[in-house]
Amino acid sequence: MDERRRGRASVPEAIRDAGGDRPGVAREVGRETGVPEAQVHGVATFFHLLAEPEVRLRICQGLSCQLRGAAELLAQAKAQGLPAAGCSCLAACDAPVAALRDRTPLVGLEAEGLAAAGAALEALRSAEPTPPARHADPSPTVFGLHQAPRPLGAAFAQALALGPERVFDAIAASGLQGRGGAGFPAGTKWRAVASQPEPVRYVVLNADEGEPGTFKDRELLVRRPDLVVEGLAIAASAVGARSIYCYLRGEFRAPWQALAAAVAEAERRACYPGLTFELHAGHGAYICGEETALLEALEGKRGMPRLKPPYPTERGLFGKPTLVHNVETIACVPAILERGPAWFSALGRTGAGTKLYCVSGHVAYPGVYELPLGVCLDELVAAAGGYVGELRAFSPGGASSGFLPAHERTRPLDFAALAQAGSMLGSAGVVVLNDTVDLVWAARQQLAFFEEESCGQCAPCRIGTRFLREAVDRFLEARTNDPPRARDALAQLGEVAWEMGEASICGLGQTAALPLTSILAHFPEELATP
Ligand code: SF4
Repeated sequence: MDERRRGRASVPEAIRDAGGDRPGVAREVGRETGVPEAQVHGVATFFHLLAEPEVRLRICQGLSCQLRGAAELLAQAKAQGLPAAGCSCLAACDAPVAALRDRTPLVGLEAEGLAAAGAALEALRSAEPTPPARHADPSPTVFGLHQAPRPLGAAFAQALALGPERVFDAIAASGLQGRGGAGFPAGTKWRAVASQPEPVRYVVLNADEGEPGTFKDRELLVRRPDLVVEGLAIAASAVGARSIYCYLRGEFRAPWQALAAAVAEAERRACYPGLTFELHAGHGAYICGEETALLEALEGKRGMPRLKPPYPTERGLFGKPTLVHNVETIACVPAILERGPAWFSALGRTGAGTKLYCVSGHVAYPGVYELPLGVCLDELVAAAGGYVGELRAFSPGGASSGFLPAHERTRPLDFAALAQAGSMLGSAGVVVLNDTVDLVWAARQQLAFFEEESCGQCAPCRIGTRFLREAVDRFLEARTNDPPRARDALAQLGEVAWEMGEASICGLGQTAALPLTSILAHFPEELATP
């Protein structure tokens, strides 16, 4: 039997099937799976979608939705008597305000529609699905988001003919870097897994897209799942894995359906013999986008990041060597094999390949744009129809990247150039803010997100995220009522941020202070005492 179907790994699904964390569920699931009740309870309370089954409407409180009145909508929903709560980014920043009714995503939620529904949850209507991603650049693309799926298996056949060593060479020569945030060279990862003495290996797709401002993996899965499935098959055959696990965020209904259909089609046509695909839905925890937290969740545990080393390439899923890749990274693979590593590499401007940039906030057409890696903000926003209002600041790579000032608008949006500016490309979830936005308020939204999503495993992150959010709340309160004292609220900001950066286990805690420290660095006047 497949390892993931055994006792412990099935705990989250058993809790979900029993209706979430209700009285008696932990005991019942414990009996059924053989896992101690306390551990079952630990899982049930960890994941947002399992922990609060009484909440049936979750309204996104991410920055892009907040810019469109998400907090007011939440207050309105509660006033209407709906069982509503706020939630972290739902990867629909291009169609704010986003919400989740049970596990059904809704987009474009507005006050009028909400009022019309009254207290009847089922009457809530979603706006039209997100419009297709637009392309301003006519140059060749890696993904062809607007193109029909091509014949399955051609690149896979090529990979088999080349053999693993030459496939590794091709991936390395292409310069492909991980598109999930870290930017690690993909070729190095593939070789590391293949070189392990352990014969059982796994490939895992990280489709737990949750970084605020990011929705590119959603688009890829919906539009080109064929590329994702074929990329996974090529990776598995090259590193010697037979089982492929796909972990999608639980809120991804349409992406799940598209990926499942692509897997079924590949299986029906026996495109990838000897390989099995298993899809797994997450249950609402941003931290599971961190690869080792994802592996823990896949094993049926609380999704808490592991200490590294060992890295997953050595000891990953169920202790076996595991290749974990983001959706966009793996979807690059078929094109690299079919058109060659040099072709792929030359597509980029300051790095290899194209990049799927997400852009939301104050632009005319929020969406996903495939552009050469290294375009600047002005070029991206030109593709998205232009700025709305006067640019004041932007967040170049999700909440973890902090904010940059308008004069950085020509800096290349790539891994190295943004790191030099003390920021990061991350998942390329770009949020544009015009001069109507209170930047301290914007930083507060990001800090609240990190506080909510910290797994709580290490003290600097658990305590520090709350400390920073509370400090900003005190600052905002004093700014209105006692301006000369406002700056006192931020007295220990530097020490706390340093402690978090130095002593947190994973990237969440290491970067969680950046929304605030970047305001301090680039917009000191926003935090000055009058
Ligand atoms: S840094 Fe935060 S999210 Fe990461 S392991 Fe520590 S407590 Fe968990």
